[in-house]
Amino acid sequence: MADQDFDQQALIADIKEKFYWAIMVRYALVVLGLVLVVFGSFLGSLQNINLLLVLFVLVYNFVAHLIYVAKVKFSLWGIIVLRSVFQILDVLAITFLIYITGWLESPYWFLYLVMIIISGFGMYSYSSISVFVIAFFSAVFYMGLLGCAYLRIIPMYGPNFTLTSQQLLISIYNKAIFTTVSFFLFATTIYYFSKLLNQNREQLAEKNKNLLAALEELKDTDRLKDEFVSNASHELRTPLSVIRENIALIKDGLLGQTTSEQRDLLQTTQSNIDRLANILNSLLDISKIESRSLELRRQPVNISEIAHRAVEFLLPKAYSKNLEVETHFGEKIMILADADQILRVFINLLTNAIKYSNENGHIMVGIEDLGEKGVECFVSDTGIGISQNDLPKIFERFVRFDKQKENKGAGLGLSISRGIIEMHGGKMWAVSKLGEGSRFIFRLPKGAENE
Ligand code: ADP
Repeated sequence: MADQDFDQQALIADIKEKFYWAIMVRYALVVLGLVLVVFGSFLGSLQNINLLLVLFVLVYNFVAHLIYVAKVKFSLWGIIVLRSVFQILDVLAITFLIYITGWLESPYWFLYLVMIIISGFGMYSYSSISVFVIAFFSAVFYMGLLGCAYLRIIPMYGPNFTLTSQQLLISIYNKAIFTTVSFFLFATTIYYFSKLLNQNREQLAEKNKNLLAALEELKDTDRLKDEFVSNASHELRTPLSVIRENIALIKDGLLGQTTSEQRDLLQTTQSNIDRLANILNSLLDISKIESRSLELRRQPVNISEIAHRAVEFLLPKAYSKNLEVETHFGEKIMILADADQILRVFINLLTNAIKYSNENGHIMVGIEDLGEKGVECFVSDTGIGISQNDLPKIFERFVRFDKQKENKGAGLGLSISRGIIEMHGGKMWAVSKLGEGSRFIFRLPKGAENE
């Protein structure tokens, strides 16, 4: 029901807009008509009747304009009837034009057909039928004109006919039959095309609506899933920390003697619990980032100092693999950011660089001040690299390409990192060549003036 209401409102708005454009077009024609009348008067052929036509159009168009401005709310049939009335007045104006430009000989009778086309394609399916209304009134006005002129009810303009009244009658009869049949043939063709077009439009609108509904459903499911992941991770964290504490108590011998074998086993259990806790934390973070509920505590920070801290923190790990770590950044580059989160990004990238490098490799961390454009940071390595096939998927959740046992990870680090950078208004991307190494780059706005 609400959908139907919405559709009708859209339809009314559409017809109203076309009604307005018709008013503007008529004004333009009135101006053109006036120019022609004035031009004609210079040539000495001012005919009051031309001016009368222009005034006639101006007056009823002005009335249309007044109604348009005064009436704010239209019903669907209200606006269709109103528009039809003014279209019929247009047909009357065309008949007037034909009358003053040569009657039977007037070249303007095709304007009736133009009106039929405009009414057929200018409206929606509700009023495709309007082409027949226009065809009907065209026929009535045109034949009325022929009749009135023949009976000398109205004076004749244009070429004087040298036909006998019998010949004139035959000519009028032929013309009347020909034009009326043309009107209705033409109207039928336009009606058919208009219906066809509307049918396609309706089908498209229906499909569009279904797609939008499916999208909404998907969004709901996605929200539910995020909520579930977030709740589950939250609930699992507490029992997990209790288990961890208990294992620590046993391992440290506080509850009685343990053998070294038992201690080894408990140690492995503990590190697996740590890993599980890390994964749970990452899951919580990713759901916060995706729902944009991760709170950033932005402050002016020296990003060089943050990068330095990350390098210092991971240096022992790098040295244990005999990796050389080179840094390229100035002393002080201030940005407005959440220092903890940016530190996390550097740590994630550096951890990966170490994890996915072979012994004796080379890691480089750099920051470049881009002035107005912000800062660009990178972490590169000479490690195993990523294939061109895998590269576009690298920032997706749970994506892992290196399945080596010692490189166990949840495949969330990069999506969290990119999420953090994007929440700061920046962007992150990677370039890599399989077997040669990778470079992860991110750019951040400096903040303050951009916020
Ligand atoms: P993970 O915890 O598995 O490291 P990430 O999201 O950090 O999760 O990384 C996703 C995947 O991207 C990794 O499993 C690995 O296949 C690939 N990857 C990330 N960083 C690098 C890198 N520096 N060199 C090669 N591959 C990488």
